[in-house]
Amino acid sequence: MSHTHIAQHIAKVRKQVEQACIKFGRHPSEVNILAVSKKQPVDALRQAITLGQRAFGENYLQEALEKQAALAQTANLEWHFIGPLQSNKTRNVAEAFDWVHSLDRLKLAQRLNDQRPADKPPLQVLIQVNVSQEASKSGATPEALPDLAAAVQALPRLQWRGLMCLPAPSSDPTQQRAAFAQLAALQRELQQRWPDARLDTLSMGMSGDLEAAIAEGSTLVRIGTAIFGARD
Ligand SMILES: *Cc1c(COP(=O)(O)O)cnc(C)c1O
Repeated sequence: MSHTHIAQHIAKVRKQVEQACIKFGRHPSEVNILAVSKKQPVDALRQAITLGQRAFGENYLQEALEKQAALAQTANLEWHFIGPLQSNKTRNVAEAFDWVHSLDRLKLAQRLNDQRPADKPPLQVLIQVNVSQEASKSGATPEALPDLAAAVQALPRLQWRGLMCLPAPSSDPTQQRAAFAQLAALQRELQQRWPDARLDTLSMGMSGDLEAAIAEGSTLVRIGTAIFGARD
């Protein structure tokens, strides 16, 4: 993908986000774009960086660490781990990332907390919720959420910022919105239950459903294909 293409794509995604905000009565500054750069070469990230993108989402640890090393001289990048997380990967994630979106069980939370280096700020975490209740998908069930949230809040090296979901793909806007509305409702309930928690982040929406996600209150859309083109 050439530089002009990435530039055009980013401009288009920014415009789409802005238009969705206007359409649904939100302020464009409320919605941030996470550039999902999995399976993209480091040059693609460099191009996005020259266009003002600072936050990148990665799914695969080894690949992410290599890109981070290649971009070590670039200041103010923000790295988000968004892929399925296994216990044996938590140390690297706790050391190398600023955010984790895929926290879905207590054991992972405890390990990330224990392994977060003392010289770094607390790891910013989102609890991933399985809103479409598919057995194969990761994410905490809505029923398990309150207990998990209570435990995460007690961990001093984690800062709980909200919820994330990855619903079953659908091309039907009504269905897309239903899943996002469910996540937004869960976040409201948790915020009411713990008024002191700083739940300012709802990570939902990807290339194919960002408008529906913004309609339902997304503050962080995770965009891969629409910025970088297809992955191989
Ligand atoms: C790959 C991925 C994305 C980006 O998906 P696109 O459809 O390419 O925008 C977003 N979120 C997660 C968790 C992903 O794994």
